[in-house]
Amino acid sequence: PGPALFADRANSRGFDLTDAATLAAIEAARTPFLDTAPQAAPLIAGPLAATAPQPLHNPATGALIGHAALATKADAETALAAAAAWDAPAAERAEILTRAAGLYEDHFGEIFALLAREAGKTLPDAVAELREAVDFLRYYAAQGATLTAPARGTITCISPWNFPLAIFTGQIAAALAAGNAVLAKPAEQTPLIAHLATRLLHQAGVPRTALQLLPGPGASIGAALTADPRIHGTVFTGSTATAQAIRTAMAKATAPGTPLIAETGGLNAMIVDSTALPEQAVRDIVASAFQSAGQRCSALRCLYVQEDIAAPLLHMLAGAMDELVLGDPWHLATDIGPVIDTDALDKIRAHVAKARSDGRLIKELVPPATGTFAAPAILRIGGIEDMAEEIFGPILHVATFRATDLQKVVAAINASGYGLTFGIHSRIDGRVQEVTAALQVGNLYVNRNQIGAVVGSQPFGGEGMSGTGPKAGGPDYLPRFTAAPRIEVAA
Ligand code: GLU
Repeated sequence: PGPALFADRANSRGFDLTDAATLAAIEAARTPFLDTAPQAAPLIAGPLAATAPQPLHNPATGALIGHAALATKADAETALAAAAAWDAPAAERAEILTRAAGLYEDHFGEIFALLAREAGKTLPDAVAELREAVDFLRYYAAQGATLTAPARGTITCISPWNFPLAIFTGQIAAALAAGNAVLAKPAEQTPLIAHLATRLLHQAGVPRTALQLLPGPGASIGAALTADPRIHGTVFTGSTATAQAIRTAMAKATAPGTPLIAETGGLNAMIVDSTALPEQAVRDIVASAFQSAGQRCSALRCLYVQEDIAAPLLHMLAGAMDELVLGDPWHLATDIGPVIDTDALDKIRAHVAKARSDGRLIKELVPPATGTFAAPAILRIGGIEDMAEEIFGPILHVATFRATDLQKVVAAINASGYGLTFGIHSRIDGRVQEVTAALQVGNLYVNRNQIGAVVGSQPFGGEGMSGTGPKAGGPDYLPRFTAAPRIEVAA
């Protein structure tokens, strides 16, 4: 493999869910995994001292889906001591990661079943997530195949439950492609999918000392794996507050240059002006705010509608929301599954209850009676400055603006301090250019939805409180996992 490998790389084709034969093949492949109860445990290169297996439940149905033993501090110590950078030649590492992508694809039935049962993912979301995971593997493998810079050493990868396969895999793939040792700490809520992915990476040929899996709580295991001088970098996707805590801990415990690559929260806005096509805007608002039950850091949180069209647009939006099917993500008709757990649900409900008592609740759907379902809702606000924090669920906040106040809206969005995604619906090119040039955000979307960044063509990441960069799935990400080339001078 040479540079051509990177140039020739193509994203995966995924599955065409409009094709009956494809759907039947998916059904046949995932059904055997509907009633299984897998066991997961830390995968470390040494003796295990993990907790007793803890039960895990399907957020949509409450059914038991398996057990996971979590890592203890003793396991973190064993893993830190055993971690050894992956010293195979760059081209061989790339070949193994590419092989892993193929293994992921071969296991699509098991993966789709676990994504539905453990993470509440609908089938379209699960298909997109598998694609993103294999695209990350092939993208970083291709870029890494010709690397000459040395690895940094040991990298801790802390990944979230909302993309338990794609982000878990993307972080690890980049660190491994560069030849580092990885200590992976998946979210506590999704250890089963992380366990399956790690086994496939090992099966493909990643050495046990180069990739160790340590599921467990952030406060103990995450802290033990980041605040340690044996760590040469941390990759984190999660809340802004946790990223700040990791930064503080790393500053005290690690060498001064140790990088933290963080992708955090957002208060993502969309502007819809009076020239927008309402049918298209409504479709894109629904996808951006409610798909994946709003559990994407890219999701639309704050919609600004020009006041001239606000009433008809909100009327259409409410009608579109009424068509959404909430339920068990296993069923093909389901548009919106559950939120991840009762903690998440309680926080969302408290936020909506406050808006209801303030008279700001415009629209709310009725959620299924069982499972952790948050009702998709629209809340009225004056502007983004009224939003204190990111609410990670299917809750859309709506403000109106006058055409003459557009610059004030842009200034308010920038003043929030977050800068992850932004959308604009407008048919006036000059206005689109003016607004997008002024906004300080990582990913801008024009006349489309603002979720689902594509590896290789839409590098993803934010500015300000939303993340450190470099963007995932873009050319600058992998080099951050390498150390400066060593210069050797012959005597
Ligand atoms: N990359 C995802 C998207 O564009 C979001 C990632 C996240 O939620 O952390 O929708």
